[in-house]
Amino acid sequence: MNTFTGDLPDTKTYSERRWFFMGLTEPAADGVLCWFSCGAPSTVAAKLTLQEYPDAKIVRIVIDTEHPDSERYATEVSAWLGKEIVNIRGKYANQYEAINSTGFIKSAFGAKCTDELKKKVRAAYQRTGDLHIFGFDAEEGDRVEDFRENHPDLMFRAPVAEAGLTKSDCKLIVERAGIQIPAMYRLGYANNNCIGCVKGGMGYWNRIRIDFPGEFARMAATERRIGATVLRHRSGPNKGERLYLDELHPEAGRFETDQPGECGALCQVALERVGLA
Ligand code: SF4
Repeated sequence: MNTFTGDLPDTKTYSERRWFFMGLTEPAADGVLCWFSCGAPSTVAAKLTLQEYPDAKIVRIVIDTEHPDSERYATEVSAWLGKEIVNIRGKYANQYEAINSTGFIKSAFGAKCTDELKKKVRAAYQRTGDLHIFGFDAEEGDRVEDFRENHPDLMFRAPVAEAGLTKSDCKLIVERAGIQIPAMYRLGYANNNCIGCVKGGMGYWNRIRIDFPGEFARMAATERRIGATVLRHRSGPNKGERLYLDELHPEAGRFETDQPGECGALCQVALERVGLA
């Protein structure tokens, strides 16, 4: 891996190390959209992007079940970047509204709320020819390639990955900038997703039950209302069948390994493959 020291790579090095640029024409000055998710990698992606594209827009899709500390974080990041963060919202405020409206939580191919809360909102905002900047990190090289293969018409870059920076590197950069990392990281969560992310496993949901009992109860009630579940039995005679959160054994799963991935483009890839997006 890289020999990261805690400082931002200089722009020249960063540019020389770019993995790919789609070979299309340069985007318009205001046609660079950096998707900021209140996570450390997308924060560093924004910083790097502005070195090369000072007129880039830093865009955040706001979901009201993010940890409230995200507002503090976004404000401090905006000050560090010297740039306004553009907040946009879709027709659903959170995963519950998306689930209740569609009657669908997720399948083996992904979460419907990602489609409703992220992809459709992005699609409505973007313009043809925009260059999209995502916060993939250096440990997600295969996922970047997967995304590129599945979005041949989308011009995008992943400056954090291009610079060889991992998520841990990005957290360090954020802290060096004098910004406290988001509360969800400090609580031990891998990503600053919605609280009560449908992509989490048993161990994740048992931690949510402790840290955010209201969100646990809210999702449990949602499951019963629509007759679908976040989890399924992993073993035993009921293997593969629905496991309602209100049936989840409090010691089931492992928090460390059952955490959801970062929400965004990648689970969308799977949805598109199976025609659910
Ligand atoms: S973070 Fe989780 S709950 Fe929120 S939109 Fe993404 S998949 Fe759904």
